[in-house]
Amino acid sequence: MTNINSLSIVVPVFNEEDNLPLLFGEINKALSSLDKEWQVIFVDDGSSDNSLQVIRSMGEEHPEVKYIAFAENCGQSAAFKAGFDAATTDVVITIDADLQNDPADIPALLREYERGYTMVIGWRQKRQDTLQKKVASKIGNAIRNKLSRETVKDTGCSLKVMDTKMVQKIPMLTGMHRFLPTLMKMQGATVSEVPVNHRHRQHGESKYGILDRAKATFLDLLAIRWMQSRHFRYSIKDRNL
Ligand code: UDP
Ligand code: MG
Repeated sequence: MTNINSLSIVVPVFNEEDNLPLLFGEINKALSSLDKEWQVIFVDDGSSDNSLQVIRSMGEEHPEVKYIAFAENCGQSAAFKAGFDAATTDVVITIDADLQNDPADIPALLREYERGYTMVIGWRQKRQDTLQKKVASKIGNAIRNKLSRETVKDTGCSLKVMDTKMVQKIPMLTGMHRFLPTLMKMQGATVSEVPVNHRHRQHGESKYGILDRAKATFLDLLAIRWMQSRHFRYSIKDRNL
């Protein structure tokens, strides 16, 4: 059993102005009844809409709203990394800004974590995306599992709870947010999967094309496979420092 006292929700934001107040409202509703210290770290990834202004004005009203704003668009992995590095809480929770993930699932993920895991990931049993995207994602997930010898049901779900110190150690290269379970396992993480709700995107647009994502992910997958083959762990029997 682990006790989580404090948590940071890390939200990568690229042109999501209409989603942000709704998202914060839902997070607030899901977390305010829990007896835990919490904050939301919005990482504005060089948005060209009013996302940053919206975040700043939410911050004036709510002390739980923290933010980091990039000077230019650096990608979702960089946004996650900046949020992970800024967190000083027991765990970090990742969630997309677009409301496709449901913050109401967070308490159940935390309960699962507290059973003794160091990573809990959401599994979108009923995905609400276009058929094209669902098929691409299923194929992508299967290839990823095969090549990285994993059995993760849904690596692409952004809703995850992770031990802060472990996630801060993983190398964050562009695209690496798609391999967080494998990278966390390399740090010794124990992983559990929990079914979560999934919703259609109501505001703003998806930032990725299916083909571009497939190509980039495949190359990253080869890098992950190589990292797995070279990865080592050691256990210490004695030390004087
Ligand atoms: N995002 C980001 N930087 C980017 C692309 C996306 O911070 O360069 C954010 C985006 O605002 C969203 C999350 O990453 O919060 C996932 O993006 P999206 O919903 O477009 O991806 P999809 O759900 O289509 O996989
Ligand atoms: Mg999305």
